[in-house]
Amino acid sequence: MVDSALELEVLNRIKTEAKKNGCTEKEVIQAYIQKMNHENKEEFHKIPPEERIVFVPQCLRQSDCKAPLGEHGYICQHCNPECQVHLITEAADKLGYKGVYILPGGSMAQKIIDFSKPHAILGIACEKEALLGGLLLKKLGIVGRGILLFRDGCVNTLVKVADVLKILGLNLNRRKDKHL
Ligand code: SF4
Repeated sequence: MVDSALELEVLNRIKTEAKKNGCTEKEVIQAYIQKMNHENKEEFHKIPPEERIVFVPQCLRQSDCKAPLGEHGYICQHCNPECQVHLITEAADKLGYKGVYILPGGSMAQKIIDFSKPHAILGIACEKEALLGGLLLKKLGIVGRGILLFRDGCVNTLVKVADVLKILGLNLNRRKDKHL
């Protein structure tokens, strides 16, 4: 885990950076994630799916989700074919990913990394969690890529599933997304 003193320092730095550049903190973090994704793009794709895991936030689940909470996060029961978590989990499984973990909170990430020992992680998160996750992976020497939620919050959040699938290794809509 990134310790709380460092977390505070980083968040303060983001605030200062935003003020200095006349932009929002969200925009500063988005630029950081974009930079991390760009730097890690090639390395991530060189690592086979069997050595990669995916972190999914619990808020992407349907509101009536029945997934039980286990030792390593929620366990999807695949109850709804339209659920974003189901679509991502199913695609990652088909591609041979080492695992998809539905995190109840960012603090569980370290526990799963210790257990799963991945070489690369694709993390879906809100800005703050993605930033802290990115710092954690850098500290651990794990190749990270992040996808930000386009509607964040505690429940009913949204991610561009097509973008997630593309980074996972699929290209369902055959778009040329250079930013990916
Ligand atoms: S598909 Fe999985 S994550 Fe989605 S609502 Fe059902 S059990 Fe929950």
